[in-house]
Amino acid sequence: MEHIKDPVGSRFEWMSTDEIAEFQSERLRESVAQAGKSPYYAAKFAEAGIKPEDIQSREDITKLPFTTKEDLRLSYPTGMLAVDPEQVIRMHTSSGTTGKPTAIFHTRQDIENWAELMARCLAMVGATSKDVFQNMTGYGLFTGGLGLHYGAERLGMWTIPAGAGNTARQIMLMKDFHVTVIHATPSYAMHIAERMLAEGDNPKSLELRIGVLGAEPYTEEMRLKLQDIYGFKVFNSYGLSEMNGPGVAFECTYQNGMHVWEDSYLVEIIDPNTLEPCKPGDVGELVMTTLRRTAQPIIRYRTRDLTRILPGECPCGRKHIRLDRMIGRSDDMLIVRGVNVFPSQIEEVLMKHEWVGGNYVIHLTTVGAMDEMTVKVEISKTSFDGSIETLRKLRDHLQKQIREQVGFSVHVEVLEPGSLPASEGKAKRVVDEREGR
Ligand code: AMP
Ligand code: ZN
Repeated sequence: MEHIKDPVGSRFEWMSTDEIAEFQSERLRESVAQAGKSPYYAAKFAEAGIKPEDIQSREDITKLPFTTKEDLRLSYPTGMLAVDPEQVIRMHTSSGTTGKPTAIFHTRQDIENWAELMARCLAMVGATSKDVFQNMTGYGLFTGGLGLHYGAERLGMWTIPAGAGNTARQIMLMKDFHVTVIHATPSYAMHIAERMLAEGDNPKSLELRIGVLGAEPYTEEMRLKLQDIYGFKVFNSYGLSEMNGPGVAFECTYQNGMHVWEDSYLVEIIDPNTLEPCKPGDVGELVMTTLRRTAQPIIRYRTRDLTRILPGECPCGRKHIRLDRMIGRSDDMLIVRGVNVFPSQIEEVLMKHEWVGGNYVIHLTTVGAMDEMTVKVEISKTSFDGSIETLRKLRDHLQKQIREQVGFSVHVEVLEPGSLPASEGKAKRVVDEREGR
């Protein structure tokens, strides 16, 4: 057990399984009562005939209705607000690019709790007040900036609010201030590394020891590649604005799945088609309920993220359950020629190869009546000898491997380094230009 020293001073981090169960039942009752103060849940509970006394323990959660992103959109701007507006000190929105965003509100206590969760995450991976922390995600409505920022300050780290983008400045700051911990999306961390390598600089020459990477899906292969390029440890960070943002689930030093802070979130895994609970250990849609948020409790939120609860206990000694890496979203699953394909399956094949760069795009079109999939991928700067012949050979190799993975033939274009648009935030991995979409 790595326990004993608890730099965040949280009474929740080392709860036993029984304590967690009891606390969750108590908090669920209070969260449902609190949610009922919002116009949205008042109407929803009345419609479903739910009375507060129906909820006694956490097992009663299945009596409650689900909440979807659409429900949040329909109750925009303040239909889910459960406190007097005067008590709100902050709002955020989701990063969605279409239609109305989903707005999330916080009281002072909510922000303090969130900062504590985030500080627990950072301490869990070994960050301390001696570290210098550079936060490379967007500050503003997006939760990655301020979310990590408050947690890092709470832990007492020297915090650099660099924000997203401006790669040259990011590199300069990391060097000049001897940065040891960074937070970024995995695609942006890869972009920075490639920029450094292209300029004859070595990412290993930085003093980084921890990379907190998240906000978008990535594979184990991508983690290994990033760890190799930077010579640091990469920890997966999962969150969504509806559940605050970052700080929901985070890996510990064992890097074996992400502990969900169960004092703050009640987790279910359901079959997205039948909406019934999955068998323990099966992959399904993650559904979450806030247990400690006052301004806007959210009940049974369908995240659309697909994952499973990992069996067994973590050697770190924490009893908070662990989630597997997100394998995709139930709504971004691609159906190509009738076959279900997750972008992560393609990434897995690509990232196994040292000569593949970090940037790729899956392009879907219609040719005749058929779906066509083209995977465009950059070769890494260091492996590129400038010859067309090399690109051809690599292309044929990848085409074969991806065909074996997904079960139909695909086109691969191997491109020179820097050919694809670089990402500074969440990478856009799929361009779907098929007819009728
Ligand atoms: P947003 O509410 O805009 O912050 O977006 C949240 C969504 O980003 C989640 O529902 C996931 O689909 C995705 N996401 C965040 N962190 C991760 C992660 N570590 N792995 C996979 N997907 C993630
Ligand atoms: Zn652990």
